[in-house]
Amino acid sequence: MPYQYDDQNIFAKILRGEIPNDTVLETEHTLAFRDIAPKAPDHVLVIPKGPYVTLDHFCAEASDAEIVDFHRAVAEICKMIGAGPGHGGEGFRAITNAGENGVQEVPHYHLHILAGRPLGPMLLMR
Ligand code: 5GP
Repeated sequence: MPYQYDDQNIFAKILRGEIPNDTVLETEHTLAFRDIAPKAPDHVLVIPKGPYVTLDHFCAEASDAEIVDFHRAVAEICKMIGAGPGHGGEGFRAITNAGENGVQEVPHYHLHILAGRPLGPMLLMR
C-alpha cells in the first residue's frame, strides 16, 4: 500500500507552529530541532518540511531540491554541534526508524543525530 501521511502527527504540528520546538536549524525544505527526550548530550531531529513518512518514502518521492537541502542541513548541524570528525569532532550516529519493526513513534520522516558521548554498539542483539 502506498504511504499515507497523517497530518495530525506531532512533527506536522511542530511544522505548523502549533507546538513549540528548540530549533537548531531551519532551511527552505528542512527543520532541525532538539529531541524532547534526548538520548545523548546532543540529540537533534532533522525533518523535511514535506509530508513524508519514512526515509524510503522521502527518497522515492521528494524532489531533488528537498533531498539536497535535507542532507546539506545534516552536514551543517554536524558542524554546528561540533560532531563531524572532518571538523575535529568526536563523531556522531545518525539513525532513522521506519514502521513497526523499526519502532517508529512519529510517522513523519526524521533523522536522529546523536553525539556528545561514546554511543556504544549499533544494536543490542536479543
Ligand atoms: P522515533 O521513535 O519515531 O524514531 O522517534 C521519535 C522521537 O521524537 C523520540 O526520540 C521522541 O523523544 C521525540 N519526540 C516526540 N514528541 C516530541 C515533541 O513534541 N518534541 C520533540 N522535540 N521531540 C519529540
